[in-house]
Amino acid sequence: MIPFYMLERYEGNEPLFELVTMSMVSTYAGEPLHVHAEGLRGTGKTTIMRSARGILPNITRIKGCIYNCDPENPHCPKHRDMTPEEIESLGTEDIPMPFLEISHSAKVGTVAGSIDLARLTDAANPAAQLLPGLIPQAHRGIIFIDEINRLADTSPEITDILLDVMGNKPGHLQIEEAGLPTVDISVSVSIWAASNPDEDPGPLEEIRRQLSDRFDLVCYMGRPDSVDILSHMLEENSHQHKIRNANKRGSNVYDETKNDKYRDEIIKWSEQYGSTDLPDFLRNFIARLYIKHNLESIRAIEAMQQGAILHSLIKNRDKVMIADVTRILPLALKHRVDGDTLVKLINDVESRGSREGILSFKNKKNKREEEEEEYFQHNARALKDMSRSELVNTEKDLTPTHG
Ligand SMILES: [Zn+2]
Repeated sequence: MIPFYMLERYEGNEPLFELVTMSMVSTYAGEPLHVHAEGLRGTGKTTIMRSARGILPNITRIKGCIYNCDPENPHCPKHRDMTPEEIESLGTEDIPMPFLEISHSAKVGTVAGSIDLARLTDAANPAAQLLPGLIPQAHRGIIFIDEINRLADTSPEITDILLDVMGNKPGHLQIEEAGLPTVDISVSVSIWAASNPDEDPGPLEEIRRQLSDRFDLVCYMGRPDSVDILSHMLEENSHQHKIRNANKRGSNVYDETKNDKYRDEIIKWSEQYGSTDLPDFLRNFIARLYIKHNLESIRAIEAMQQGAILHSLIKNRDKVMIADVTRILPLALKHRVDGDTLVKLINDVESRGSREGILSFKNKKNKREEEEEEYFQHNARALKDMSRSELVNTEKDLTPTHG
C-alpha cells in the first residue's frame, strides 16, 4: 500500500482527496459524512480511500470495548447502563480510528452481528451476548465498500442494513435472531464506497435509488490528462518497483512519519468543526436552490451545508464562503437530480455569480479567493436583507437580469 503522502494528485482526483479528508474530519468530530467515488477502473479510487487509513487519528475508548464505547458517552449493551464511576474504573485505551471493509459478497451476520446462542443465559436480554459485526465494530470510524453497486444488486438485506445505518446521524442497527427480541444499537459510522457505473450492474442510483441518496457527496474520478503528471507517475511506479525490491532485502524506504502532517490537520480541523457555522445568507441561498429546482431530497441540501462547512475548514478559511457552497453543489447533486436539472442549476448559479462577481466553479488561487471574499462581504448585507417575499419568489430572484 502506497502511503497517503506519496499519492499522486492531479485535477481529476483532487475532489476525492477533498472528500475523504472532509469525511475523516467530520467522523473524528462525531458526525458521519458518507462519500461515494465513481469512476473507471484504474483511476485510483480505491487506492486513495484505502491509503487514507494510514492518516487516521486515534480514538479513545473504554478499555477492551469492541464497540468502541466513548468513555464520555457509552452506547454498547455492556456499558450503556453503567454509572460514570463504574466506567471510570474500567480505564481507557487509545486505538486507531476503525477502518473496516465490507466486500460485495459479505454475509448479514458478518456485517451486522449475531447473538451467541451458546452463551445466552437470559433470553429476555439477548443484547448481553451479542457478537458485533463489522459495522458496530467500526463505530466512530469508517466502513469501506468497493463495488457498492454489485453489493446493492446482489444483497438487498445488507442494503437495508446500510439504509438504517446511514438513515440518521448517528444511525442505528438491528440484530435479529429467530425467537428473540430484536437488539437495536446506535452506530456512528461513515460509509465510503467506490463503484464503476459503466460496468455491470450499472450506476447505484439505478439499482437502489434510496441507497444512492444516502451518500452525502459523490465525486466522479477523472483520468490524469497531463503528460507531466503521467510521466511523473511512471517514474514513481518504477521507483515503487525499486522499493519492493528493497523491502525484500528487509529495509523500509517509506517514511511513514510524513503521514503525520495529514493526521495533525485532521485533528485540528475537527476541533474547529464544532464552532464553524454556515452564515444565514448561505443557508438561504441553499434553501432557494431547493425550492426553485424542486429538489426532492432534503438530504441533498443537508449535505451541501455539512460539505460547505467542511470544505471551508480544509481550505483553512476562517469562515464559510459561497465558493465553498458552489464547490460542493455538484457533489451533493450529481446522484440526486437528472443531468438536465444539474446543468440548469449550475447555469443559474453561474449566471447569478457572473452578475455579482462572486461565484465560480473553477479553482482559484488564494489571492483570488481573498478578493472574492472581500467582494462577498460587501454583498453579504444585501443578500441578508433580502425580503421574505423575494426569498419565496425564487424564480424572479435567480433569473439573470439584462442590461
Ligand atoms: Zn462498550
